[in-house]
Amino acid sequence: MTKQRTLSIIKPDATTRNLVGKILSHFEDSGLTIVAAKMVTLTPEQAGGFYAVHKERPFFGELVDYMCSGRVLVSVLEGEDAVNLNRKLMGATDPKKADPGTIRNLYAESIAANAVHGSDSAENAATEIKFFFPELK
Ligand code: GDP
Ligand code: MG
Repeated sequence: MTKQRTLSIIKPDATTRNLVGKILSHFEDSGLTIVAAKMVTLTPEQAGGFYAVHKERPFFGELVDYMCSGRVLVSVLEGEDAVNLNRKLMGATDPKKADPGTIRNLYAESIAANAVHGSDSAENAATEIKFFFPELK
């Protein structure tokens, strides 16, 4: 079994509704281990830097404002096939299209305020983990 790591963010819509514990339970119950975590309020520079791949998309400004609108819980999840497993647990970007029982199906409010972020590839996971946890071994 090959362990892998992925970056998770519990977004402001979820932290403000006290859903952090419930969402973390989805990760732990599926066998992922939380190896680093911090609660932070992102600056526009941090949110814009993190989502730089989306800077040409029409909703970029809205996305940055939203990600800075409240606290976020940033964590590193570790386990077998962590990137894909976390994406499965999250469900589709649009909660209306997310499978029953997924985090976004259960807790997300809209395509913008959709409760969680998760890295979409092993390569992006490595970049995103370094962005938030440069000291993590
Ligand atoms: P993800 O990988 O499933 O999070 O989705 P994307 O990488 O495509 O988009 C990144 C984030 O941008 C999403 O999680 C949403 O928070 C936001 N987003 C995506 N599509 C839209 C949209 O149409 N409108 C707005 N306001 N935000 C969006
Ligand atoms: Mg994405």
